[in-house]
Amino acid sequence: MRIWFEKMAWKMQRFMMGRNGLDDLARHLYILGWVFIILNIFFNNAGLYILSLVVLGYALFRMFSKNVARRQQENTVYLGLISKPKRTWLQWQRRWKERKTHCFFRCQCGTMLRVPKGKGEVIITCPNCRRQMTKRT
Ligand SMILES: [Zn+2]
Repeated sequence: MRIWFEKMAWKMQRFMMGRNGLDDLARHLYILGWVFIILNIFFNNAGLYILSLVVLGYALFRMFSKNVARRQQENTVYLGLISKPKRTWLQWQRRWKERKTHCFFRCQCGTMLRVPKGKGEVIITCPNCRRQMTKRT
């Protein structure tokens, strides 16, 4: 039985050779497809069901595609599109986690400044533009 599993794993590896595999876009499409399927349980909508099949089908197509250069190009574009919202989300997560120990201020240049809480009136110098401001922490 163990040999059979090893043989199957080897066959699978050979099958996936030269194919794109699971990249970020395919993974997110896969998750999105399952979200649509779960939503469809509650709303029972044919359009939602078809949409989930299309999204999952496209995720599978991306995984098994042999045009790796094109798929990587699409993945790079996708990662570029989600980089800003992802950074904002991570920033909010950090602010929430450190809300009891740090104060956050935004400089006029757009840089987020983090200073420890409970230090009274402080002069903050932006490391990006060297602008100074007085804030109460
Ligand atoms: Zn600044």
